Amino acid sequence: MPEQVSRRALAAGLVLAAASLASAAAPLPGAPILPQPVRDLWPGPHIVRRGTWSTVVGHDATGLGELARRADTASRRVSAVLARPVRPLIVVPADAREAAALARVGGVDGLAAVADGERVIVVPESFARLNPTGRDVVLAHELTHVVAGTGGLPVWLYEGFADYVAYRDAGLPVTTAAAELAAEVRAGRLPTVLPGPAAFAANGGDPAALARAYQEAWLACRFLADRFGEGTLVRLYRAARVRGTDRALAALGLSVATLTARWRAYVRDQLV
Ligand SMILES: [Zn+2]
Repeated sequence: MPEQVSRRALAAGLVLAAASLASAAAPLPGAPILPQPVRDLWPGPHIVRRGTWSTVVGHDATGLGELARRADTASRRVSAVLARPVRPLIVVPADAREAAALARVGGVDGLAAVADGERVIVVPESFARLNPTGRDVVLAHELTHVVAGTGGLPVWLYEGFADYVAYRDAGLPVTTAAAELAAEVRAGRLPTVLPGPAAFAANGGDPAALARAYQEAWLACRFLADRFGEGTLVRLYRAARVRGTDRALAALGLSVATLTARWRAYVRDQLV
């Protein structure tokens, strides 16, 4: 079964933030790791644009060059953390309806892109509403899901890890990227538990609550990277997929309870 992970699109931090991109590092050499099927997505023409590392497929050429450049940026960001070459395949359907059909889901309301197996499907209407920083964050987030996988992991870990990679080089202050959570913390309301599936299932409900779930997960992974090092976070992620999260955390001397306590202190320190 292909892994399929939805991504909320339009958190205020992404739409409103105006940080410019840092110049990209030189691309890494390496062989492709993603198969790149570019035929038979839909009836009619398939227009293909290739970046240095990426392949982008759409119905027509509109916007494909920009997407290839951004997908290259996402590729470099994911490669930098995971230490492996990444060659993204980005599919650009005509609209959200076709995006949902390609992803074999009922709808993609409010999402800017979806990781679907070994490709990232852009939702054109929502993606177009993001600013440049938001577009890069979304692509790097989804590409992290594609490359690192999500199976067997708690949602806080795979969503938090994807946002860790996505925000690592985005140039946003933590209080901007986690604006909704910062407002809660400043009001004296610290989260008490790592966000679970219910917190991420709120697509049709409270957008701020959904944004906070992502931000809480992000800061859990950011805490682990700050405290133990980024390489340890990556190893934890891989170990958790193989051995389970509890055993992977135990190797760091942590339980979910002690991680939660230290994450709460970190959230308060970062956001107050
Ligand atoms: Zn995600």
